[in-house]
Amino acid sequence: MIIEDKMKLEQKCSPVSVKEGEEIGVRLLHELRQSENGIGLAANQIGINKRVCVINVKEPLVLINPKIVEKSKEQFVFPEGCLSFPDSKVKTQRHQDIVVTADNHDGKLSFSANSKDINDAFECVCVQHEIDHLDGITMFDREFKSEPLVRGVNAPLKIGRNEKVTLTKGSESKILKYKKAESLMEDGWVLAK
Ligand SMILES: [Zn+2]
Repeated sequence: MIIEDKMKLEQKCSPVSVKEGEEIGVRLLHELRQSENGIGLAANQIGINKRVCVINVKEPLVLINPKIVEKSKEQFVFPEGCLSFPDSKVKTQRHQDIVVTADNHDGKLSFSANSKDINDAFECVCVQHEIDHLDGITMFDREFKSEPLVRGVNAPLKIGRNEKVTLTKGSESKILKYKKAESLMEDGWVLAK
């Protein structure tokens, strides 16, 4: 049973031992496989408020007490879904590169969306989405809101030089002042609508 109550999902999860975490991981992967198109699940989504989550994009991955220890300044916009909110899709902003530690993995795990393989982006987003769950954060808290370009029905499209705009290129996006955006627009970047 997957929890769909937003209030319950806004509670932080507590650290767990590796042994207990592994047992929870098995249950989570089982539950994830029952879902139609889920790629990740956090323990609090099945009513266990412990810091364990699973990701299954390229291969099943269990993370026990995971922490994001490095994240890139570069962010990108991605359409996300969540098994707890089956009817919602949200455009979120996520870090392009992250480095994660977890108690059940030696060393560090790196994830990068800066790759030709779209699965790398899915995995990188999913890890950030699931770790957020453990902190009581849902995808709605990460929603990307682009700046409106046209402010009234008859307002002309006019952007000040110091006004911040959002540019996108493929799955990447940047927010910067319009005067700095102009040169990038010659390089294939387009203004977000
Ligand atoms: Zn979710």
